[in-house]
Amino acid sequence: MTDFSLQSWVEVTQESDFTIQNLPFGIFSTQKKSARVGVAIGNKIVDVLELANNGFIDFDTTLFDTDKLNDFMALGRPAASKLRNRLQELLNENNDELRDSTHRGSIMVNMSEATMHMPVQVGDYTDFYSSEDHARNVGTMFRDPNNALLPNWKHLPVGYHGRASSIVVSPAEIHRPKGQTKADDAAAPSFGPTRLFDFELEMAFITCKQTKLGESIPIDEAENAIWGMVIFNDLSARDIQKWEYVPLGPFLAKNFGSVISPWVVTMDALEPFRTKGYEQDPEVLPYLKPSKDANFDIHLEVALQPENGEAQTICTSNYKFMYWNMNQQLTHQTVNGCNINVGDMYASGTISGPEENQYGSMLELTWRGTKPITLSDGSERKFMQDGDTCIMRAHAEKEGVRVGFGEAIVKILPAT
Ligand code: CA
Repeated sequence: MTDFSLQSWVEVTQESDFTIQNLPFGIFSTQKKSARVGVAIGNKIVDVLELANNGFIDFDTTLFDTDKLNDFMALGRPAASKLRNRLQELLNENNDELRDSTHRGSIMVNMSEATMHMPVQVGDYTDFYSSEDHARNVGTMFRDPNNALLPNWKHLPVGYHGRASSIVVSPAEIHRPKGQTKADDAAAPSFGPTRLFDFELEMAFITCKQTKLGESIPIDEAENAIWGMVIFNDLSARDIQKWEYVPLGPFLAKNFGSVISPWVVTMDALEPFRTKGYEQDPEVLPYLKPSKDANFDIHLEVALQPENGEAQTICTSNYKFMYWNMNQQLTHQTVNGCNINVGDMYASGTISGPEENQYGSMLELTWRGTKPITLSDGSERKFMQDGDTCIMRAHAEKEGVRVGFGEAIVKILPAT
């Protein structure tokens, strides 16, 4: 159980995402330290390798002397809980073991002096399409408002296999991609930079289990295989997507760069924020029927910052708007015997809410460019421009205590 009154001897401000109730894991390095496992608290990083080296925790040091969390994740959720509990103890305001230790200086690192790295080696990556409001908006724009959801949508979590190689960590810079597009009134396709460069506000979960080919994960066991979550910006080129996606789905429109937040928030930390999702109607097939609530109340927001301008919030959404939950997604992914691995990433799909300011993409916010957004510098946006920086944030909050994800930041550079 999470104790919301717990305080740390490390200074944690009211606005900090990284409270003692959170303790997310990441990979960091500094000028003096090689890449290794760290845990965030306030504006500090606990060097977990150094903690192990000095006997504060009972784990094999090699687990943390690495530039990927995969080996530690492979031990499963109980190991992460054990380490997180021990860290909560060590960082507790009433505990002097670490606070008064001569090793404190080498273990507690200033975030400002650290570089964050990709936290996991992503094996496979799946992108779902699980927000009903998003699917309805897209279906309304591209097909028929009276028939916005395709017949399968409420019976299975629609998804596709994406590309793991181009998932990068925040802060990132991504060049405007080039590709084939075809205007509706053009006789032939043309080649060039995308004109409709979009973000997609998503969250992703990461698995900590390896299964054998032929094995399926039942819905009641899915949670044991889900280690933690990150913010996921699935950058998209809408004009390339429109031309290429029939009949097999997105291809080059979405694999030129997706940006994740560097800290992996554990499911233990998110547990207090478990909530109901949308009512599923019609009833789902038995293999997808969850036995408990499996959505999470996580506030999401997107800000857009023009070159040399102020960042402006253009969307606020929530992870609880998901129609299909993580357990259903993972169960469906494996129901045919498809095997999974430690470090696989599963993105939610764009998370939109019912209100117009809750739409999780420019496509929806500007309604396909028909309602441009005015930024604080007076300029208008239908889609993202070169020089724009897209900033995504996510946090859960209860009793004044935040459990947050930090940021997923990407700057759009001109096409090469
Ligand atoms: Ca997506």
